[in-house]
Amino acid sequence: MHIGCPTEIKPQEYRVGLTPNAVHEAVVHGHTVTVQAGAGVGAGFTDEDYVAAGAQIAGTAEEIFAAAEMIVKVKEPQAPERAMLREGQILFTYLHLAPDPDQTRDLMHSGATCIAYETVTDDRGGLPLLAPMSEVAGRLAPQVGAWTLQKANGGRGVLLGGVPGVGPGRVLVIGGGVVGTQAARIAAGMGADVTVLDRSLPRLRYLDDVFGGVFRTAYASAGNTIDLARQADMIVGAVLIPGAAAPKLLSRAQLSELKPGAALVDVAIDQGGCFETSHATTHEDPVYEVDGIMHYCVANMPGAVPRTSTIALGNATMPFMLALADKGWRAACEADPHLLAGLNVHAGRLTNYAVGRALGIDV
Ligand code: NAD
Repeated sequence: MHIGCPTEIKPQEYRVGLTPNAVHEAVVHGHTVTVQAGAGVGAGFTDEDYVAAGAQIAGTAEEIFAAAEMIVKVKEPQAPERAMLREGQILFTYLHLAPDPDQTRDLMHSGATCIAYETVTDDRGGLPLLAPMSEVAGRLAPQVGAWTLQKANGGRGVLLGGVPGVGPGRVLVIGGGVVGTQAARIAAGMGADVTVLDRSLPRLRYLDDVFGGVFRTAYASAGNTIDLARQADMIVGAVLIPGAAAPKLLSRAQLSELKPGAALVDVAIDQGGCFETSHATTHEDPVYEVDGIMHYCVANMPGAVPRTSTIALGNATMPFMLALADKGWRAACEADPHLLAGLNVHAGRLTNYAVGRALGIDV
């Protein structure tokens, strides 16, 4: 199969759909890979890296969309990219169609077969192509929170690890899933005193079994949440209710009960955020203050570390990309119901029930 990887054109997107390692695997499998010149630069991969891995380099996205049977990307295709998709072509990328009727209409109109990273599933009920980005955001959260806590950045001037003779900073992580677990691990590794709240007792049992001694767990009742929030220097919002907006777990009125200069890192901001005072920010201007409390609410945190994020995403997408290329989309999806769960649009029709429900389109 001819696989194409264009340069991402969404503003501030520095990741790339294929790493040189992924190109090499595809070439070993007998496929042809064309990468757009400069596509990997933002993630630290040169055109020479791709050529060494066996790729051809094309000057423009138009050449790639015209020649490739499968397009592998990171972000949902932008309007000019959607206009280049054609019938029978496979598109393998993040799509997030539910809130995006324009994109959905264009993809249906294109006749392409569109497989969305975010709806591919695994045997344990997880979302294996979302998990790597949650891992990145979770591990980044204490790093950005620690920076926010510095006095010059508006924070309360607390060093998370403390020093001999001075106790550590206190971190509260709300939601102990992928993001929360990684955030808690890193915060504990920085020397902070960490507590993780979750509403799922099986999850709390798992965390206690695996991380008991590294951080504490507590049940996420409203009372526990505000009690622990009052003591915290940093609070990481990491809850998810699948298919729903994030619940608001701290109100504006409750900010007055927090320590002045405390840092809120609302990772759940891409689902609306779990603090009432959260609104999405960008890497250029990530932090703002409300009632003396610092808020970090960047909606695409993995974009801060595009090299790590690209490699992590590539590790997860590679087996699916190879299955699609080796077998063709139909046989690959017939052989793997988890990949089939990723099919969102085919031959002019929407094929994902949740997206159909969200957009009022028959599936
Ligand atoms: P996950 O499903 O692995 O974990 C969510 C956890 O929240 C679960 O353990 C669940 O039991 C818990 N939970 C649900 N409601 C709760 C409540 N009221 N109180 C306490 N715990 C509650 O999800 P995840 O992969 O860890 O993602 C967490 C959030 O981070 C999601 O909103 C996701 O979209 C977001 N995210 C944001 C970025 C970013 O760049 N900002 C990147 C990756 C993920």
